[in-house]
Amino acid sequence: MAMNALNIPSATISRMVTYLRILEKLESQGVNRTSSKHLAEKAQVSAFQVRKDLAYFGRFGTRGMGYTVNVLKRELRRILGLTRPWNVVILGMGRLGGAIANYPGASEYEFSFRGLFDVDSNIVGQEIRGLTVLHSNQLAEFVSSQATSSQAIDMGFLAVPPEKAQEAAQLLVDAGVKGILNFAPAVIQPRLMGEAGKELEKAEEWRDVIVENVDFLAGMKRLAFYILNPSLKELEKEVEL
Ligand code: NAD
Repeated sequence: MAMNALNIPSATISRMVTYLRILEKLESQGVNRTSSKHLAEKAQVSAFQVRKDLAYFGRFGTRGMGYTVNVLKRELRRILGLTRPWNVVILGMGRLGGAIANYPGASEYEFSFRGLFDVDSNIVGQEIRGLTVLHSNQLAEFVSSQATSSQAIDMGFLAVPPEKAQEAAQLLVDAGVKGILNFAPAVIQPRLMGEAGKELEKAEEWRDVIVENVDFLAGMKRLAFYILNPSLKELEKEVEL
């Protein structure tokens, strides 16, 4: 794959996820071929943007002929890492954690919930979709018991109250989990180490840890701002190009 990862904007990755969803829909409708113009219409971006996004990852399709839907879909799934299984634990089995664990859509992309954790004695021990909720103090032992199996834990979802998010993130990282999907409205900070007066470095266990935030309240606030300032949204689109 011809890819200079350093230069790929994160908005491109978000759009690649959208293109994949569109391609899957087209395939399910029996459509065999598509074009950057067609994808652009469906994704509400420009055809130039589609071609630019795809070009980060190589050449797909034939000039003037467009793309074969199932080939491009397969390529996008491969680029996004969706051709292998991903094993997930959830910390916080309240309203949100419970809803996520019960949501069947994740398994479509081979995301499997392997462990569910909470600290509340009313929740620990409950069974959700065949998994017994464990206490968070069992997380490290659980993750290490899976480490050499095909069910080694790749990701942890944080669905704990915001004031508990940092300590729960540290639990995940201490257990060796490298990917965190943080649903709590809190900024997760890596633990820092170093001598006073010098630039602090990330603690060893935080190197290579990726944190992604999902926050619908933040989305609502952005929406409110852009409804009041619609011309700035248009400006944002132009700047992306
Ligand atoms: P909730 O109070 O119903 O559930 C939180 C659960 O976390 C509780 O069961 C609690 O016992 C548990 N918990 C606390 N500390 C823990 C720890 N160290 N390890 C494991 N579990 C722990 O809350 P909720 O409504 O499910 O919301 C959960 C989080 O998600 C909150 O931070 C909330 O703000 C956020 N949220 C985000 C979105 C979003 O779009 N991202 C949407 C809804 C809620």
